[in-house]
Amino acid sequence: MDRPFVFINCAMSADGKISSVLHSQVRISSRQDLARVDRLRASSDAVMVGIGTVLADDPKLTVKSDELRSDRIKRGAAPNPLRIVADSLARTPLDAEVLGAGCTIAVSKAAPADRLRALSEKCEIIVAGNQQVDLAQLMGILSEKGVKRLMVEGGATLNWGMICAGLVDEICVYLGNMLIGGDQAPSLVGGAGFSNDFPKLELISFDLIDGGILLSWRISRR
Ligand code: NAP
Repeated sequence: MDRPFVFINCAMSADGKISSVLHSQVRISSRQDLARVDRLRASSDAVMVGIGTVLADDPKLTVKSDELRSDRIKRGAAPNPLRIVADSLARTPLDAEVLGAGCTIAVSKAAPADRLRALSEKCEIIVAGNQQVDLAQLMGILSEKGVKRLMVEGGATLNWGMICAGLVDEICVYLGNMLIGGDQAPSLVGGAGFSNDFPKLELISFDLIDGGILLSWRISRR
């Protein structure tokens, strides 16, 4: 099945954490890096996060720069990329910032009907998978909807699900000059973890940004 080009973008501390033990948002990116993330969003057809990130951070996932939004309009695109949440049981709160035109909640067949009814007034719904969102099936559906370039913005569990299913082409990480620590603090990739057959990364580029390093890797097929 066809799927979009998929890349993960994340900000991580020098000790590999993307958030603290409180699982709330930690500002790791510098101002210059945030502008880079905005450009990446503007260059994508869709942006996706897991429900854990919606519950923890309540992100809007929109393009912040007026200039980048008008550039998108000039080339015939919507002002913002599609915003997608992987949310098997339709737990997205009805007042979540991500909801509204251009938002799609990807759910599984296990999502309660009343939640689906309420959410469908505020966004599109895609059903893929029985108990949990089938990410490969979701990628196929997004591809059919014209999504060619998908930016995954975490968190740790969704990153794992996407990598484990072999659905990620590249990973961009801003390695910030700070430490977070904590055994329970999420790292770049969570989930069950690999015990063998570890995916290998090929370094594409590295750049110094505001005292941190931006690393881009290509991920090998498992
Ligand atoms: P997450 O990865 O955002 O969401 C995970 C949830 O996605 C799962 O629990 C699952 O819930 C749902 N999901 C649906 N289908 C899935 C599938 N096939 N595979 C995997 N997950 C699937 O949540 P998280 O791991 O708790 O990460 C959230 C943390 O990351 C927060 O602390 C946030 O601040 C941080 N974060 C940091 C950055 C950064 O760049 N530093 C970026 C984003 C987030 P259901 O089973 O209910 O569907």
